[in-house]
Amino acid sequence: MTTSASVPAGSGNAVPASGTVTDRLIEANERYAAAFTDPGMDARPVLHVAVVACMDARLDLHDALGLSLGDCHTIRNAGGVVTDDVIRSLTISQRALGTRSVVLIHHTNCGLESLTEEFRHELEMEVGQRPAWAVEAFRDVDQDVRQSMQRVRTSPFLLHTDDVRGFVFDVKSGLLREVDPA
Ligand SMILES: [Zn+2]
Repeated sequence: MTTSASVPAGSGNAVPASGTVTDRLIEANERYAAAFTDPGMDARPVLHVAVVACMDARLDLHDALGLSLGDCHTIRNAGGVVTDDVIRSLTISQRALGTRSVVLIHHTNCGLESLTEEFRHELEMEVGQRPAWAVEAFRDVDQDVRQSMQRVRTSPFLLHTDDVRGFVFDVKSGLLREVDPA
């Protein structure tokens, strides 16, 4: 997995010749702030829900779920995996900011399906140390959603584990499919 600051040629959102992609984001923010008015919102999500999802660029959580600014917490990482750090965020979300429902979203064609834990070994060979974290690669997306639901439901730190539902988002159709907790 390599990262690059470049944007493919021909993209409608191509980076200006003179600037980096970050420069472009800063310019967009200046336009955003010029039209911005303080919505006067509380930090507590209006719908009392936290959404845990993959960081995949094709997944627009707000549009896909009909969410508006202020409605929810969004917690994202590679795979939408329920790691210790996701439990940390959910614990703060529930105990300090009043959420009580948890929605987990994985998706079709996820990059984690093409990785294995061997990735950690490859990193170790390259840089001389093995990461402390697990890759959390998976073969069966439904099974990984079930495991994620289980991790949330069994966490001793969370106040609310009765409304935890898991889904697979289809990147071709835009539809969510619910996974039976089994
Ligand atoms: Zn993904």
